[in-house]
Amino acid sequence: MVILAKIQEKLAAKAALLFFCAVLASAVFLVLLGAMADQRFAKNQEIYKAKTLVFSAASAAAGAIQNSDAGGLNRLYFNLGQQKGVSSIFITDRNAQVISKAEHLSPNSLQSDLTLVREAIQKNLLQWRLSKNQLGFAAPVHSDTGVIGAVYLSLLPSELFPGFGVFVVKNLWKGLALIGVGLPMALLVFGRLLAPIKELIIVANRAANGDLSARVDIPGRDEFSVLANSLNLMLERMKSNMDRTRWLAYGDSLTGLANKTAFTERLRILVDGNKAPGSLFLIDLDGFKRLNDAYGQEEGDLLLQKTGQRLRQVASGFMSRLNADGKVPPPVLARLSADEFAFIAPGCVSAPMAQDIAKNILDAISEPLEASGQPVRLSARIGIAMYPHDAGDSKTLLNSVNFAIDVAKENGGGNWQFFEPSMTQAAIRRITLQNEMRRALKNREFIVFYQPKINVRDGSISGCEALVRWQKAPGKILSPGAFIDVAEETGLINEIGDYVLREACRAAAKWSKNGHQCPVAVNVSALQFSRENFTQIVGAILEETGLSHELLELELTESVAMTNPERLMEQVAPLRDRGVRFAIDDFGTGHSSLAYLTRLPFDVFKIDQSFVREMTEDKHARVIVQTVLAMAESLGYRTVAEGVETREHFAFLQLHCCDYVQGYYFSRPVPETDFIDLLAHDKKGKSHKQPEQYDSDLRQIA
Ligand code: C2E
Ligand code: MG
Ligand code: MG
Repeated sequence: MVILAKIQEKLAAKAALLFFCAVLASAVFLVLLGAMADQRFAKNQEIYKAKTLVFSAASAAAGAIQNSDAGGLNRLYFNLGQQKGVSSIFITDRNAQVISKAEHLSPNSLQSDLTLVREAIQKNLLQWRLSKNQLGFAAPVHSDTGVIGAVYLSLLPSELFPGFGVFVVKNLWKGLALIGVGLPMALLVFGRLLAPIKELIIVANRAANGDLSARVDIPGRDEFSVLANSLNLMLERMKSNMDRTRWLAYGDSLTGLANKTAFTERLRILVDGNKAPGSLFLIDLDGFKRLNDAYGQEEGDLLLQKTGQRLRQVASGFMSRLNADGKVPPPVLARLSADEFAFIAPGCVSAPMAQDIAKNILDAISEPLEASGQPVRLSARIGIAMYPHDAGDSKTLLNSVNFAIDVAKENGGGNWQFFEPSMTQAAIRRITLQNEMRRALKNREFIVFYQPKINVRDGSISGCEALVRWQKAPGKILSPGAFIDVAEETGLINEIGDYVLREACRAAAKWSKNGHQCPVAVNVSALQFSRENFTQIVGAILEETGLSHELLELELTESVAMTNPERLMEQVAPLRDRGVRFAIDDFGTGHSSLAYLTRLPFDVFKIDQSFVREMTEDKHARVIVQTVLAMAESLGYRTVAEGVETREHFAFLQLHCCDYVQGYYFSRPVPETDFIDLLAHDKKGKSHKQPEQYDSDLRQIA
């Protein structure tokens, strides 16, 4: 742009200089030409005057020569001598012999003057000659009889003719007049000539700065307008190519919405650039992956396309409402990842309005759809952050909206959540915790506690559950509830889980060597289980620690089991074939179909402690526990009841044929050394409770 401006400046300067020089040269030429013409004219006039003088002298001299009138000649000399520039005068007879001359004047070269005189007598005509220093005239003198002599008159040119400079000065006004009139006219013409060039340069400039919509308007059919039309055509083609390239780079080919790159760019322009207030909505479809797996990717794509169309309708509805006065920039709808959409709504500045948009989005998404001919209903959760209220720049705004959607996720699907400053605090706490956990893994601060599982029939320890603890400082031990969620969110659960598994297998192998065949149950998180090589990892740990496969039990929650049953079969089968047992943890909390669950490859049901805790007071809980136990018995599953805290709990479970119990009533989770003591104690036959002790309790509850 600077270069183009310089060229423009230079071009203008050059042209102005050129025109100025041309006008100046013309003015000088005009002055010189005028001076020369004037000089020539003045010279001719002087010569003419001199000729007239010589003729009149010749006719005056005729009488004086014939009458030898010396006085008459002297008067003649005197009169001629009065004339300007006269330097010599003499008179000759017909033979060119000087018969008289003006004494007070002295000729320079008589010889050459006489030659002129002879020529005049011979030709009977006035003769004249101009040399540098002299202007000589010789005129024949006539009488009735013919030529009787001649008059010679010489003049000094320096006195007759003024210098060239005088004529130049006289003509100067012409030059000045030319400059005075010519220069403004030249500038006017030049300005007109340069105007289209300027316009071309301005448009080229704008195009160079990325504005391909700029056009040149030069009417007419001259070269400039041809050039302007060509430039316009070129810009048009470039713009359509750019638009196409932009679309390829900035569009989401599946839904036709903007893609993540375009979204980020627009958000930056709207929030960081325009600084106009508005709202940002992050929309995440609930459980879309499951639908995609169930119906296949093609059907999944169609569902996403339909969702895109519906969002577009919501957006255009609000655009007409928000953009009523035409001052608000258009909203932006984008697909950020597989099932995540974003909606930037400039002008949406009030919470009720944002809430209205969120509600419309949820309503539109939940309209019935079809996949493979089956009715499908989608739902979503929405995070909302308003700018500049919640964030002054696009980066912070994105963080804010992500905090909001995280909270929306925690609250379950089909809802929206506005950003609140406290979410940032929570996020900071989470990040701090995450960093501390990384450090804790390195420093081996995670330890494993073991909680015994008691055989209801004989009260012996028939196994244990490995439960992770974080020893943050001496005497400060954290339970999983304080960190396991963050570990799952950040993926650290994989490392922690592998560590617990290795540690538990190592411990159980050691106990086994020492004569305690105590199976160990290890919790497996969804993330751990979803790893491609989960089976290999478990196999390798068993190999490494030398634990017999039958002594390992893996606990999966109901939701993990139900997320992808086919995958579950694939992962579980090879380990189960080798003797590893699988348990459904927290059974009854996932609201899954009992009939379906029983078809999955599990060996043990662990009844969730919430039912156990409530069963003494709540009849429904009692019925659930009873039903599960009865069903498990008839289907051949083992059952473990968690959270057994009282004698009543135990008695009821015993009455309804629960196989194992686990709870504070027998033992809290304890460090390995304490657990070894429990095992030793158990081996000596001193189990915590003998079945007969509970007979009276049983009667009470039943
Ligand atoms: P869970 O697998 O259901 O483990 C049982 C939880 O119940 C343990 O809590 C245990 O201490 C507690 N518990 C046992 N008996 C009683 C009782 O009588 N009363 C009460 N109120 N609670 C009892 P903990 O150790 O805090 O673990 C909580 C959860 O954290 C576990 O639930 C499990 O889901 C998870 N977890 C623990 N360790 C690991 C691990 O190594 N890996 C994974 N992925 N998750 C783990
Ligand atoms: Mg468990
Ligand atoms: Mg449990």
